[in-house]
Amino acid sequence: MSTRRHFLTQGATLLGAALIRPALAAPAHSGSRILPIPTATGEILPGDMGITSLHEHIALRRGDHHWEQGMAYAIQELKRARALGLQTIADVGPPDDVAGIREVSRATGVNVICCTGFYLLQRSQLGMKAQEFQDAMLKDIEHGLQGTDVRPGVIKVASTRMPIRPAERELFIAAARVQQKYHLPICVHSVSGCAEQQNILEEAGADLKHCYFSHIEATFGWNGRTVDQEIDYLEGVVAKGSTLSFNNFGNWNHTKPEDLALIIKELARRGHADRMVATMDVTWSFEKGRLKLLWEDTNVNGRDRTYAYLLESAVPWMHANGIPKSATDRFIIDNPRRIFTRTAT
Ligand SMILES: [Zn+2]
Repeated sequence: MSTRRHFLTQGATLLGAALIRPALAAPAHSGSRILPIPTATGEILPGDMGITSLHEHIALRRGDHHWEQGMAYAIQELKRARALGLQTIADVGPPDDVAGIREVSRATGVNVICCTGFYLLQRSQLGMKAQEFQDAMLKDIEHGLQGTDVRPGVIKVASTRMPIRPAERELFIAAARVQQKYHLPICVHSVSGCAEQQNILEEAGADLKHCYFSHIEATFGWNGRTVDQEIDYLEGVVAKGSTLSFNNFGNWNHTKPEDLALIIKELARRGHADRMVATMDVTWSFEKGRLKLLWEDTNVNGRDRTYAYLLESAVPWMHANGIPKSATDRFIIDNPRRIFTRTAT
């Protein structure tokens, strides 16, 4: 088992190499240039992303803070996923240990796009205004995350079940404003009410082609709609340009497999295969030194649902359920790349 000192030494050496890497820029059409994507280990271009999962977590400081166990587990599981072809993930934490995430990325060769923003708001944050949320995000973007030189490449926002609360509305407005300034994609924790979330973002000036809504397939977020009604509801969202992010593959207590397959197939049939991505939303903690994966206790083989599961099981499951490779390639390659392709003049 490697020690923390070993990781830190290795990370510092590799960081030195990253610092001398020249800034990236690529020509784009019509006189604009493609903006590089900041990652935990330096900038990449959209064409470097390869197979990508846009909603994951590297949770190094949850539970009882078993940092070394978490680090070893993250490296082990991301190496397994990397061997299957996964090249890039977005950690939509918000990150609990950016320096640790950088070490994980170095050790595994997986690009990690870090985020700024907020998950479900704490009670103490419910009085915050858009300007305060905005200032916090701008600090991360302009000065680096957690005292490092790592810049966020995506904005995370969240709201709980409907109706959306005033402070959550302020948060979404802040994200749209920050996106207008820095062109970062927005990752939304949805579960419930993604159309209403999208309306707030749209009114505040967000570019919906660079917004993606997570967990929208969870049945308990459908507010009583049937699966057919839910498909129509989701179609209203993608019709405006946003992307849907699915992660309940194997998490059949949150979405029945036949419903998940139907939603994806039907939306693809209606011409929206370019508006869906597939992820795992891997989340874990160590409790009294024991690994606990989120939802492992409510699923058969719940322990298997880590980063590698996307390519090992979720993609083959989609193929077996009539979703062709041409579509799944878009979900894990083309659509993530499109969402993260941003241009500036
Ligand atoms: Zn998540």
